[in-house]
Amino acid sequence: MAIKRQDLFEKCRKFTKARDLIRAGLYPYFRTIESAQDPIVFLDGKKMIMVGSNNYLGLTNHPKVKEAAIAAIKKYGSGCAGSRFLNGTLDIHVALEEKLAGFMRKEAALVFSTGFQVNLGVISALCGKDDIVVIDKMDHASIIDGCRLSYSDVKKFRHNEMDDLERVLGASEGSAALVVVDGVFSMEGDIAKLPQIVQTAHGHGARVMVDDAHGIGVLGKTGRGTAEHFGLEKEVDLIMGTYSKSLASIGGFVAGSEEVIHYIKHFARSLIFSASPPPASVAAVSAALDIIQEEPERLEQLWKNTHKIINGFKAMGYETGPTETPIVPVILDDSETAFKMVFMLQDEGVFANVAVPPAVPNGKALIRTSYMATHTDEHLDIVLEAFEKVGKAMGLIG
Ligand code: PMP
Repeated sequence: MAIKRQDLFEKCRKFTKARDLIRAGLYPYFRTIESAQDPIVFLDGKKMIMVGSNNYLGLTNHPKVKEAAIAAIKKYGSGCAGSRFLNGTLDIHVALEEKLAGFMRKEAALVFSTGFQVNLGVISALCGKDDIVVIDKMDHASIIDGCRLSYSDVKKFRHNEMDDLERVLGASEGSAALVVVDGVFSMEGDIAKLPQIVQTAHGHGARVMVDDAHGIGVLGKTGRGTAEHFGLEKEVDLIMGTYSKSLASIGGFVAGSEEVIHYIKHFARSLIFSASPPPASVAAVSAALDIIQEEPERLEQLWKNTHKIINGFKAMGYETGPTETPIVPVILDDSETAFKMVFMLQDEGVFANVAVPPAVPNGKALIRTSYMATHTDEHLDIVLEAFEKVGKAMGLIG
């Protein structure tokens, strides 16, 4: 006789939300791009201005980055066939760690295969069931998942509210604690209040880790990120970064003191039990780091582009929230408006992203736009015109 049990896959049959959007022609995910991640991309053969990419410095298609990746494939092949821990560490992994440590002005760095894995591995290696992890409510999903894997007591504070951080830390004296924040928040583009975070955390004996996925290559005089922006490179205990934004590749790293990196190296399961980043990715990051230092004009242009867009959106009457970075959202209230708007923009030749709850708070659906150093004035004018035309047609702006 068959055992009576609910079918695990029942939820898949009942999941209709995405199919409803597809049927309505309003499904904005997994759109297929047929070209490089440049200011201009092709979708279904149609030319579009890309304002949905995290390629902030425009390096993913830079000749030197591509040449470095090709040369690495020629020398080392296409993959490492094992983890960093066993057979998968190449001389270029070690050289990249030294270069990243120097760039981040820390004693040591550790190279992982994705940024997501850095957060999983670092938080769960350092924090255990007797410890506390304190996170901003708007922290990235990978930080939240790292906390879950750690079995620690996880405490959240209200987004960028320092009184609440103080309250949370004050209420949990005694246990060892790690405060983890995004340097730049990935949806709304605002910057963590690092001076107060460091002061409050250290005042309570807690350590501080910054996820600088969207800060590296963007913030600071020389693109070293949020800690450089605030002059706090020494004070922040750990900085993680990803290669999938300004660093033009895929992978991630954590930088800190030699003894902490040494410890993480032996306890981060997402490092030890997962294959190392492939040679081409590693070589691309190394070349990107050189270019960031050799071509500071890219950073300058990124900021010119950012200011032009923020001013342009504001002048039209759009709500752009607290952004201070090349991530510039247009905040709408409901998800349906956001889904419609993204397709009207697409019809005007603009590729933007949409973020709806739970990725953003309820009632704060947004169109997420982000900019590259390689966008020209002409590209940005087309974007502004499209937002003006669509916003007026939808009755969102006057
Ligand atoms: N942290 C933040 C803030 C991110 O935005 C992302 C990527 N979206 C990650 C971590 C994960 O990085 P990766 O893409 O390298 O896995």
